[in-house]
Amino acid sequence: MPAAILDGKKLSADIISGLRAEVVAREQDGLAVPTLAVILVGGDPASQVYVRNKRNACEQIGIRSVMHTLPDTVTQAELLALIGELNHNIDVHGILVQLPLPAHIDPESVIERIEPHKDVDGFHPCNIGRLAVRMPDLRSCTPYGVMRLLALAHDDLKGMHAVVVGASNHVGRPMGLELLLAGCTVTTCHRFTRDLASQVAAADIVVVAVGKPGLVKGEWIKPGATVIDVGINRLPDGRLCGDVDYEVARERAAWITPVPGGVGPMTVAILMENTLRAARKGDRVVTEMLLQQAGV
Ligand code: NAD
Repeated sequence: MPAAILDGKKLSADIISGLRAEVVAREQDGLAVPTLAVILVGGDPASQVYVRNKRNACEQIGIRSVMHTLPDTVTQAELLALIGELNHNIDVHGILVQLPLPAHIDPESVIERIEPHKDVDGFHPCNIGRLAVRMPDLRSCTPYGVMRLLALAHDDLKGMHAVVVGASNHVGRPMGLELLLAGCTVTTCHRFTRDLASQVAAADIVVVAVGKPGLVKGEWIKPGATVIDVGINRLPDGRLCGDVDYEVARERAAWITPVPGGVGPMTVAILMENTLRAARKGDRVVTEMLLQQAGV
């Protein structure tokens, strides 16, 4: 029997409607409108699409998104100065810098400049570190979105062998930390891994985040495994595909994510959740300021 589909489109829609209800309740309580500052540098078409999707989700929920579009000639100092201003602006709860950035800008310096409590992408070393020491706060959107999909298939992940293929700062590494936090035995594979096939074949859960179509062969998948394909690749004919040989993998796995419609929509939904979480942090800052002003 072919694998059951882990439907990220449906789960993300459910999450978004729950968040909409929370924003309405905030309005009734007189709390600030959750606000996300979105910084887009240059005119990369894929980045423009990602930013549009995120802003559409904000609109659906009632989150205010404030766009900062900068030319690709912007200097690193100018970009850091803008982030500094947004860090100090109490009306801004979350800051998102769409990656990739032009080559003359160091993405790590940019991520580090964002205040950790406004880092709704969950990329700041403080937020990744919190996950590593089992004190998660703002969690990286894609890996946490994967965890929410896995929860549809498994009540408990403890003791399962999870293999993550890809070890980037934004996906593979925090993915391994999430799975470890959930009690999995985790193997992380990367470009220097020898015999990827045998690593994947041993996995109860495989999460692939590389960016190479067909890298993971369907026949490597252990029968009954859960397969999560994070990869997004554009084929020459314009279609999107993941990193896993989907048709064959689907015949062996018990659960699988499609591309598109699997992990992608979950990333956006978790970004929205993080923005609401950051707004709640902002509420506490404002309350403390008011108490201080009142001399309490
Ligand atoms: P990246 O280029 O930063 O990292 C790729 C990783 O793959 C590296 O750790 C590298 O060591 C590893 N790798 C390369 N060749 C390999 C091989 N032959 N065997 C094993 N590992 C190998 O990429 P990224 O930012 O982590 O993104 C990975 C993919 O996920 C891309 O297709 C990207 O578009 C996609 N992505 C999707 C979402 C989503 O929401 N669905 C979010 C982020 C990224």
